[in-house]
Amino acid sequence: MYDVSKIRADFPILSRQINGKPLVYLDNGASAQKPQAVIDAVHRGYAQEYANVHRGLHTLSNISTERYEAVRAIVARFLGAGSEEEIILNSGTTEGINMVSYAWAAPRLEAGDEIVLSLMEHHANIVPWHFLRERQGVQLKWVDVEPTGALDAEKVIAAIGPKTKLVAITQLSNVLGTHVDVTRICAAAREKGVAVLVDGSQGAVHAPVNVAEMGCDFYAITGHKLYGPSGSGAIYVKRERMEEMRPFMGGGDMIRDVTKEAVSYTSGPMRFEAGTPGIVQTIGLGVALEYLMELGMENVAAHEAGLAAYARTRLGGLNWLELQGTTPDKAAIFSFTMQGAAHAHDISTILDKKGVAVRAGQHCAQPLMEHLGLSATCRASFGLYNTREEVDVLVEALELAHNLLG
Ligand code: PLP
Repeated sequence: MYDVSKIRADFPILSRQINGKPLVYLDNGASAQKPQAVIDAVHRGYAQEYANVHRGLHTLSNISTERYEAVRAIVARFLGAGSEEEIILNSGTTEGINMVSYAWAAPRLEAGDEIVLSLMEHHANIVPWHFLRERQGVQLKWVDVEPTGALDAEKVIAAIGPKTKLVAITQLSNVLGTHVDVTRICAAAREKGVAVLVDGSQGAVHAPVNVAEMGCDFYAITGHKLYGPSGSGAIYVKRERMEEMRPFMGGGDMIRDVTKEAVSYTSGPMRFEAGTPGIVQTIGLGVALEYLMELGMENVAAHEAGLAAYARTRLGGLNWLELQGTTPDKAAIFSFTMQGAAHAHDISTILDKKGVAVRAGQHCAQPLMEHLGLSATCRASFGLYNTREEVDVLVEALELAHNLLG
């Protein structure tokens, strides 16, 4: 039984007030709040168990290393990966995708080779590919978004040509809430011998994930959206792809031997984890993922589907609100503008006075915003602890903003 009030009690920040009103936190798409278990793990990590990992033989270093390394298996379980040897721990999706660009794509792609991506990618899944376009003449092939905000998997598949080496695609749009049929795309790409990178930054937060069933080659997640610490994250890399990757950051932990003349590298995921990692952040990520698995991601998904349906009805009733993205099964992420001249920043400032936190701006998705013909939207993005009552508070605050600005 999913008891949202019990779950809310796990998140201390949710009981605070903002501008004299109870906090209604609807900026989960940008970053989620942390349960007490994660806060405690971070506190314990520094207060009682802190030392560097993989280095010392003393007690604290052993404890730290054990806790840190245990996270690899937790991530593998959370993502349905066959082995923890397919999990590279890192600071988040941005690092994960850049790593694929430098370590896998850069040495393999030549001028004229193509990367297929959609118009609704986050900049983290665009800019690393622009680097390859600028530096080595790789072509970016963009797939359009439908008027409903849907991304047609068949159009992505049709864009895969003989020169395509990679499809880089989000599982869930951070602006529109649209789900993408990445399993279908992976199956078709595999038949054509093309690798697929799935940006799971949003997808992994809202529904169960199984990378083995999905059939992707790379799947990137970011800890702070998964109710864990910022500066933590991971990327699943299929074993064959990891063998094809060359090390991209050099330093401690990723080597076997270093002499004046030569260097040899360690094997497995640590080959791609140079330097001292975010030790405590990663330990906190493990606790966050265990918290989510304890709740059951299918239960989180069901709760959020109820919220999405309710919010769609309530927001749909405001005839001066223009919602972006209308696919019926979309996640509880609502981007909107108001008819008239009201600017998204002004709307969000008024909502904030009512304790309602939403994001306003371009959401790191400029190609999509250009396609929509908008310079900014407000975005209310819901999480596992949000309630229908909070949807009502949002609607009241929007009515106030409309009266003041409309
Ligand atoms: N991809 C998507 C779809 C996102 O929503 C985000 C964050 O907003 C990112 C990538 C980047 O994540 P991070 O900044 O944590 O690396």
